[in-house]
Formats: sequence, C-alpha cells, structure tokens
Amino acid sequence: MFKIRVIINSIITALVLVAAYPINAQQPPNLIVILTDDQGYADVGFNGSTEIFTPNIDKIAKQGARITNGYVTYPVCGPSRAGLLTGRYQDRFGFVGNPTIDPTVNNAGIPLSEKNIAEVLQPAGYASAIIGKWHMGTHPDLQPNNRGFEHFFGFLSGGHRYFPEELNIEDLSEVTKKWQWYSTKLLRNKERVEITDYLTDELSNDAVDFIQRKKDQPFFLYLSYNAPHAPLQATEKYLKRYAHIKDERRRTYAAMISAVDDGVGRVLDTLQETGIDENTMVFFLSDNGGPLTKNASNNGELRGGKGDMFEGGVRVPFAVRWPAKIPAGIDYNQPVSSLDILATIVAESNIDMSANKPLDGVNLIPYLRGENNNAPHDVLFWRGYTRGMEASRTANAKMIKHKQQKMLFDLSTDIGESDNIQGNNSDDFDVLQDAYQQWNEQLQEPAFPRLGSWDFKSQNAQSDKSQTEHKQNQSNKNLNKGINHE
Ligand code: CA
Repeated sequence: MFKIRVIINSIITALVLVAAYPINAQQPPNLIVILTDDQGYADVGFNGSTEIFTPNIDKIAKQGARITNGYVTYPVCGPSRAGLLTGRYQDRFGFVGNPTIDPTVNNAGIPLSEKNIAEVLQPAGYASAIIGKWHMGTHPDLQPNNRGFEHFFGFLSGGHRYFPEELNIEDLSEVTKKWQWYSTKLLRNKERVEITDYLTDELSNDAVDFIQRKKDQPFFLYLSYNAPHAPLQATEKYLKRYAHIKDERRRTYAAMISAVDDGVGRVLDTLQETGIDENTMVFFLSDNGGPLTKNASNNGELRGGKGDMFEGGVRVPFAVRWPAKIPAGIDYNQPVSSLDILATIVAESNIDMSANKPLDGVNLIPYLRGENNNAPHDVLFWRGYTRGMEASRTANAKMIKHKQQKMLFDLSTDIGESDNIQGNNSDDFDVLQDAYQQWNEQLQEPAFPRLGSWDFKSQNAQSDKSQTEHKQNQSNKNLNKGINHE
C-alpha cells in the first residue's frame, strides 16, 4: 500500500512538473510585430474609438495586455523603426532622421555595427520575415536579405501607393522625381514582382503564407503595414463599411485601417489553425502618432501629432498578446517603449546578449505578469536633433525643451499637456533636463544624409567609386536640408 502511494505521489509530482513547465518548452516563442504607419492613438477600438472598428486588433489587447502609455522613440517613421528594430535609442548610432532612399549611399540606414531583431534571433535558429515597409536603407548592404531576414516582401522606401495598377516603376534607379518611389513594383527578396490585389491585402496574404511555412520552427515576423500612411487609398470592400463617415478622407482612412484589421484577424486565425497560438508573442503598435490633417487621423485627447514631442507624436496604440505568459485582459499603465520588444524576446528565448551593445529596453513579461510592480523605465527620452527639441518623461512628469522654450507637464492630471507648470516647478524641470543631458552625452551626430537630399540630376551617374564618394560628400553637405514627410 505504501509503495503504491509513493508511486502515485511520483506520478502526481511528474504531472505537476509537466503542467508548470511552459508549453513548447523546447521551442522558444515566436515573435510577431504588427506595425502600422501614422495611425492615431484614438483610432483603435481598444483605445475607445466608436467610429473605426478594429475587432481583430482589439483581440490582441483583450486577450493580452492593453498598454495605455506605449511609446515609440521618435515621432516620425525612420528613427522610430530603427529604435524598435535594434532595441537601442537610434540616436546612439546617429539615426536622427528619415534616411535618403538614394541606393548609392551605403550608410543611410541601420549601420552594420548594430544588430536588428532578425540578426539577434538568427543564431538561435529563428527564421525572420519582413513584410511591408522597410525604410532602413536601400543600398544593397542594408536591404533586409542582408540584415538577418530570409524573407522580404514589400518595398524599401518610406511609403507606397496601394493599387496594383499604379505600381509601374521597375526600380529606384528609374526614379527621376520626388515621391515616384511610392510607385515602384514590390520586391520579393531581391526580385521585382507584380501584384494583383490591394497592397494591404497582399501583405496580409504573404504574412499568412509565411506563418504556415514556418510553423514548425521559431520565427520572427515583422508585418510592417504602410497603412494608414498617405496616400489615402482604399477599395470599395472596405469603404462600404464606413458609409456612416461623411468626410471622405476620414472615411478612406478608416477603410485602410479596416483592411489592416482583417489582415490581423487572418494572422491570429492562422496561429490557431497551425497550433502555435499559445507560444507566439504578438505586438501591435503604430510607428508614430497620427499626423492629423495629413491622413485624417485622430489622437484623441493627446496634444499634437506626428513630428511633435507632445504625446500625440510619440504615444501610440500599443498592445501585446502571448497566451503562454501574459494574462488576458489587463490594462498596463506604466510607460512602456518599443525598445522593449527586442529585450523581451531575447530574455524569453534565453539568448545571450552579453557580447552585444547594451539594450535600452527591458523584458516586459515580469511587469505584465505583476511579478515586478516597479516601473519598467525610470525615464524615457526623445531627441529631436534636427529641430532642436528635447523631451523626457518619468512616471508622471514630462519635460519638453524647444530652443529657449521650457515646458513641464503633469501627465497624471494633464494628459493633454495643456498646462505648462514649469514656472512653479523649475527644480523638477531641472532634474529631468539633467537626466536628458547625461543621456545626450552618449549620442552621436547625424550619421547619414536624410530623405529629400537625393540629387536627382546625378542619380543616373555611373556607380564607379569616385562618383559615389563625390555624391556622398554632396549628400552630407545637405544633411540638414532634409524634409520631414515620413
Ligand atoms: Ca510613420
């Protein structure tokens, strides 16, 4: 009898151990980052939109964590994406603005001295894909297939047109005027390909296909939709869902988000169908705040928009779902950064980062599980190098300095940053500014020419070394003439 009880106890212990051990313990978690472009803070159902319906995007928040204070590291596309992808403040490597898309410039992107998420995960056996917008360099050395991504379907520049019949430029080398790069044919790895569907649907199709192909090995899918970035273009299938919106631009913007939402639904369904839902971490966020009039977006009660250091520029719709570890339906209100995505996946897949440069993000999982109740970050920073802007935020206090103008806001009572309390709280302002200055000392000057500096007259020049060098020197002279379109 005693012997039988011992055996039964052993079996129970074994069962408890099995149950306590995470599912698929042998296999590290998959990572999916769904990034939208220029989507307003208030333009998702999970942040309260009653005008734009995002039932599938909302599932990520409802079945995981809604991050109410989720930030990106810069209020426009390029630098924000460089921070997200490297897990390091992009100013540490001189990525201060949108890079030129001149393909002869070999340093306009994430420098080879930095590792992006795909490069970090590759040695651990991950297969990585970027589907959609890259914008991290057009020179061959900087393109996705040379930066840790085995699969690329999308475009290299900062924005794109959506209707297949408008994509008729064979290559960036054919571009002779500004914004023509919005009309290049898509790239499938290094080859130009024709598409037949609305661009957002094409990207979703390819994402589903990638998940199905890679379901048996760890993968990282960077699903980088350019929607709802301008130009405002949508198909009737999505427009007809928004007959109640009278403003045509707002209606088209809503329809573009609806197409993304359908894609997110198909991605989540595919995770279920392939049986990898439990072990897949899915982040959803926008690369910067809504630019308001430019694409008819809405940042709700946040002040300002894209390009601003106010909350409307850098606080974005943000949610993360991972059934294996993140409790469903939580609201997380401490400041979180896009920098945390890389730090989270490397911690959860036990990747040794000690040989790499220090990360600025933290593993979010202990915070989201309530195992660590401190704030993930003591302070977050933003440097607007080209515009002379500085910003930092602690739990409640936010400092913005623009040339001689000093601002301090208490976000706990003034989310709209309407009441500048710097005058009566100059000590608090100084603390934040001192922290900023210490951080700023670690940063680099602009490393490459910015978007808008492309000299079209010489873009067809021979690619011999001397001409390329001459052109780079010219481009560097134009560093501060770049435009801030994206
Ligand atoms: Ca953007």
